[in-house]
Amino acid sequence: MDSRPAEAAPLDPRLQRVIGVAAHVDAGKTTLCERLLFDAQVERRMGEVEEGTTVLDWMKQERERGITIAAAATSLPWKGARIELVDTPGHVDFGIEVDRALLALDALVVVVDVLAGVQARTESVWRAATQAGLARCLFLNKLDRAGADPARLLTGLAERLQARLLPISWPHEEGGAIVGVVDLFDLSIVRASTRSSRARRDPAACQADLTSSAAVAVSVEAQVLHQELLECLAEGDESLLEDVVAGRQPDPARLRSALRARVCSGELVPLLCGSALLNVGVHTLLDALVDLAPSPLDRPVRRARSKDGALHPLGVDPLGPLCAQVFKLQRLAQREVAFVRVHEGALRVHQQVELAHAGGTEHITGIFRAHGEHLEPLASASAGSIVAVTGLTRAHTGETLGASGAVLALPSLDLPQPVVSCLVEPPVDAQRAPLRALLQWLVREDPTLRLGDDVASGSLVLAGMGELHLDVAMQRIRDETGIEAKAGAPQVAYLESVQSSGTALGTIDRLHGDERIQGAAEVSVVAMPHSERPVVSFAPECVFDPSTRVAVQEALDAELQAGPRLGLPLTALRVVVCGRNPTVDSASRLGAVLAAREGLARALAAAGSAVLEPWVRFEVRTPSSHAALLQGELMGRGVEIEEVLGDGTDRLVRGRAPLYATFGFARGLRSLSQGRADFTLAPAGHAVLAERELAARGL
Ligand code: GDP
Ligand code: MG
Repeated sequence: MDSRPAEAAPLDPRLQRVIGVAAHVDAGKTTLCERLLFDAQVERRMGEVEEGTTVLDWMKQERERGITIAAAATSLPWKGARIELVDTPGHVDFGIEVDRALLALDALVVVVDVLAGVQARTESVWRAATQAGLARCLFLNKLDRAGADPARLLTGLAERLQARLLPISWPHEEGGAIVGVVDLFDLSIVRASTRSSRARRDPAACQADLTSSAAVAVSVEAQVLHQELLECLAEGDESLLEDVVAGRQPDPARLRSALRARVCSGELVPLLCGSALLNVGVHTLLDALVDLAPSPLDRPVRRARSKDGALHPLGVDPLGPLCAQVFKLQRLAQREVAFVRVHEGALRVHQQVELAHAGGTEHITGIFRAHGEHLEPLASASAGSIVAVTGLTRAHTGETLGASGAVLALPSLDLPQPVVSCLVEPPVDAQRAPLRALLQWLVREDPTLRLGDDVASGSLVLAGMGELHLDVAMQRIRDETGIEAKAGAPQVAYLESVQSSGTALGTIDRLHGDERIQGAAEVSVVAMPHSERPVVSFAPECVFDPSTRVAVQEALDAELQAGPRLGLPLTALRVVVCGRNPTVDSASRLGAVLAAREGLARALAAAGSAVLEPWVRFEVRTPSSHAALLQGELMGRGVEIEEVLGDGTDRLVRGRAPLYATFGFARGLRSLSQGRADFTLAPAGHAVLAERELAARGL
């Protein structure tokens, strides 16, 4: 398969689309992506989540559980353009997969289940995409389901997402069933087969099923929405306005290009309808991705920082200086690959690249186009593409790659701190080393996992973003190594911090053999309640030379991994070091490091220690019949209920709670509601745990 890499001409960036699909769990993202692949004739069969036959959910764990765990990339040709597509997971436990995909994307399709409406993850991915400056479109899915009422949802959707939504397709029903969509640009009907997708069809038959015909009557709703679309696009466009006022139908191509500019600027969000399962509305979505989504040239310009701190706008020139960003590491087809978005210039096999954050160079040994788990070798990749590369052993998620000597750094990721942990034990001691090695790889692949050691028991400690996250990691160890590792019960992953601020002088003066080691450093520690990671910096009057600063920084970073109170990582604080002894030789540099360590220990003691616990936002969606029971159960756990929404059949309860108070709630909820309620958590930072609670929890 690797034999002859294709030497492709650089793609014209105007013909590229780099698009992600994100949403709440079960909205139908993976099913939709599988339909996009089928309709573009990349796949001859439609992959089904329920049958474990999807291209994009290819991991054993994904197929067994019927959920997406890792973002997966593929690409497809449509109307002369190439669409790079990234399907992402909806569970908050795997939220990093969405966050890091956003580094690489230009636009996002957000899928909404028409019966569920906007759910917790819909809102959070929407916010993240807005912050990342991505153009967005909404795909309203599952319109085949009984009770689907897209019109009722529209106003609420726009309000919840704070977006100006513009429907561009609308369901077309015959005999009470959805058979296609109305294209609202010209009121043509785009039909798709309403046969169950489980009845296999080949692409040719599917193409033949599609006809556009304005002869069949479209619903009044669609006609009203068509008029609204014309009026919206005529805003600020004199000649279009004249056509609309005169009742002339404007050319749909002109309407699309008017809309495209306003989608790329983020002003308007196109809304499309369909049923991924029945392959309805998918062609219209493919067209919209090419006609309306930004090419790499149409998105807001990315800026990268040079070593002197200056910001430089990046071009999209395939012949420009290389700037590419690693957004994901993964083991694929027995290789350790890094997924890379090339922003400017081109990457070539056997090229040396410089790492902006880690420093030094690495050698690219292979470049591939990913299609789920399959890798197709390429000789090069130019600006605007997403590829998998081999050969990077030191680059982490978020690293920027550049040409030697001229590397610019793109902003990396703010990683959330893990919130749950468990002890991990191999069945026999001889397997401890291979187990640790695999865990170290998992942690490299997924930076929201953390590996540590439990001092008391000698066990390994794995921490992550939720019970599901740890459970999947444990199962992957068993699947991939055959080691039947055991996991202890999940525990809340506490962190340490300081109560206020403290400053102390650390000094050292001792003989080491014949050498006298001397050093002095004043260290200040300040609580920073809203920062996730500790930050170490140097005061302007610090006299340490640059190499001493690097050594001091490394030593203090290591010290901050184990706090003075419980040996847990320190967070939410800033450390400022002011070196007092000029560093001229190795003895004075060692003295500086030892003095800074002592200064830190004293400053931490002066600032007073605090234990932090993770908090979460929660959302319970329940049939009204069970609402009172579930609210009672929640209140019994001491959580803060902030709002109760909905009437009639469904109730939505939202609030905040310490993660501790929600443990086991999901399991209890299933039996209390006979599996009809849905419970979602989202991280909400850390807060100080009261001293009396510490004792109550045995800490
Ligand atoms: P994801 O979690 O967003 O990736 O959702 P999946 O694609 O895994 O789909 C979740 C479930 O919803 C699966 O059982 C799908 O078969 C089902 N599903 C997806 N799209 C539709 C749809 O349009 N209509 C119906 N009725 N079910 C759908
Ligand atoms: Mg999925």
